[in-house]
Amino acid sequence: MQIYISGEFFEKEDAKISVFDHGLLYGDGVFEGIRVYSNRVFKLDEHLERLYESAKAIDLTIPIPIEKLKEDVLDTVHRNEMADSYIRLIITRGVGDLGLNPYTCEAAGIIIIVDKIALYPPEVYEKGLALVTVATQRNLPEAVNPRIKSLNYLNNILAKIEAINAGVEEAIMLNSFGLVSECAGDNLFATRKGILMTPSISMGVLEGITRNVVIEMAREKGIEVKQIVMTRHDLFIADEVFLTGSAAEIVPVIKIDGRVIGDGKPGKITRDFIKEYHHLVNA
Ligand code: PMP
Repeated sequence: MQIYISGEFFEKEDAKISVFDHGLLYGDGVFEGIRVYSNRVFKLDEHLERLYESAKAIDLTIPIPIEKLKEDVLDTVHRNEMADSYIRLIITRGVGDLGLNPYTCEAAGIIIIVDKIALYPPEVYEKGLALVTVATQRNLPEAVNPRIKSLNYLNNILAKIEAINAGVEEAIMLNSFGLVSECAGDNLFATRKGILMTPSISMGVLEGITRNVVIEMAREKGIEVKQIVMTRHDLFIADEVFLTGSAAEIVPVIKIDGRVIGDGKPGKITRDFIKEYHHLVNA
């Protein structure tokens, strides 16, 4: 495995960064998770754009232009020779001292890892997943905006801990108004009477690349899409619910807080999206 760190390549055992990097000390940095299908990086431009926007929002300067980072990502993918893989692209604030001040840090660090990922066992995609709503609220947009894909994932990890301890693998997170935002690591969709619904970005969610792909696919199929103020009630009475994310792809949901969704099996709209998504990523 060849890991890229700020312009150089290292074997996995030698890929190391400073303990004084603020990415480690404070979770100060941003990242992306990107899929490679059949040697092609899926939606790379969209991921890079979101990365630079996340960095901008935290006043972090990525030390190379977007075109050069794109080249370096493609080079790292090429060197690792894994036709189907997952890229973790990380920008750390860089090496500083033990104080919080980010402006004491040297140039931002860039890390690119290409590896395999399997978030859920294959049967989940056929049988569906159970979710619970957790008590940990999604970060307030006025505190740490969920649109920033930051290296500080503690908010999401706290939700994940609650889900796992409740015996399920993913959590539904509400915002401070008690409205549905998203899952710990995925966006959330519901269908009812043929209409596709997802919480609007203003509910405090990451604007997922996969979320946008699904919205686009729906529009092309002539399915009405509504980005709404979503309550748990909307989920309980939905015909179908599913999750989206680069690593997770599209995952059917069949139970939420003990309520069976639809007829308790992955629904037709969800199954069609899964099929079409696989078609699209390999096209
Ligand atoms: N929400 C959160 C909190 C995430 O971490 C992710 C990515 N894992 C998503 C949504 C999905 O985003 P994308 O489709 O861009 O991977």
